Amino acid sequence: MPQSKVTVVLRARPTEKFASGNLQIIDDKTLQVRDSRLGGHHDHQFAFEQILHNVTQEKVYEVCGEDTVGSVLDGFNGTILAYGQTGAGKTFTMTGGKENFRSRGVIPRVLHKLFAEIKARMTSNTTVRVSYLEIYNELCYDLLDLTTQPSEIAIMEDAKDHVYIKGLRTPVVENESEALGLLFEGETNRMIGEHQLNMESSRSHTIFTILLETQAGKEGDPLVVAKLNLVDLAGSERVSKTKSEGQVLKEATQINKSLSFLEQVIVALSEKKRDHIPYRSSKLTHVLKDSLGGNCKTLMIACIWGEAAQLDETVSTCRFAQRMRCVANDYSINTRQDPAALLRRYEQEVADLRQELAL
Ligand code: ADP
Ligand code: MG
Repeated sequence: MPQSKVTVVLRARPTEKFASGNLQIIDDKTLQVRDSRLGGHHDHQFAFEQILHNVTQEKVYEVCGEDTVGSVLDGFNGTILAYGQTGAGKTFTMTGGKENFRSRGVIPRVLHKLFAEIKARMTSNTTVRVSYLEIYNELCYDLLDLTTQPSEIAIMEDAKDHVYIKGLRTPVVENESEALGLLFEGETNRMIGEHQLNMESSRSHTIFTILLETQAGKEGDPLVVAKLNLVDLAGSERVSKTKSEGQVLKEATQINKSLSFLEQVIVALSEKKRDHIPYRSSKLTHVLKDSLGGNCKTLMIACIWGEAAQLDETVSTCRFAQRMRCVANDYSINTRQDPAALLRRYEQEVADLRQELAL
């Protein structure tokens, strides 16, 4: 089985003071941080697959999204996660602007490439579905259907431990514009929901999932099913308990918990404690169960805001990113048998045999 490490890319939001202060980009893979709190006055180096600073949205997509589209079309699961403090550019990276194609983020570009590839490969037997989930205070919301009550959306596992979310809409999309329409509808619903719940988008995790079902062989052959999760995580900043209270404290506690559970899952995966991975400790890790370890290619975009005032959070993001780099995944193509199609194939074979006998 091929092995793949979690790929971690660093994206730095453009800021004027970036290189002059405590942060220095040594080369396209190394960030040097000078921080007395990291032990004496030593310089610490953090390594990444690639550092993206002052680059276009297109470049970010080329580095972070392009390969994943190909492998999802080949039947592998994939996950791209944006991690970092609020304001570091996670949403800009994942969704980007609506106005023109240049400003579009990874998700719209993945959709563009995906439908272009499906057309080029002439795979008319591929069905594309999308879903858009938001996790806020450990409750799941369907961003494609605001009428659904959050409690109705339950995370389930089938006999093969594949995770699915009962009650979550997964509409079929025929083309790029339909898929983009749903992404932007979800964004709008997110804002409406935010208003109703009096919350800030930076306090929730969102997962836009693309599901591909391909009939690779004849009818009745197993379907190749692949899933790509595009995750915009809640802001990773530590909120001081003394400064926050009520709703804000509750949100901060939940986020801190779910991100540290994410970390625990990642550490357990890197230590190969396959039987003791605490996926069920939070909604986020449970939803991502089949997308972080095992049968999945995972890429994390660690987003940083290189201002001096944000140094603590930058260091904390870089440390998280280093732990993430240790995880190796086994991945293989997913297949699923469609019983109705199999029955139709057997019926056809019986009919053909009967005809041969009658001749
Ligand atoms: P987050 O989702 O991490 O809280 P946002 O994506 O909302 O952060 O980014 C915060 C602000 O910075 C937004 O106004 C966004 O447009 C801007 N921004 C972030 N990254 C970039 C970038 N690479 N280039 C230009 N503007 C950016
Ligand atoms: Mg955001």
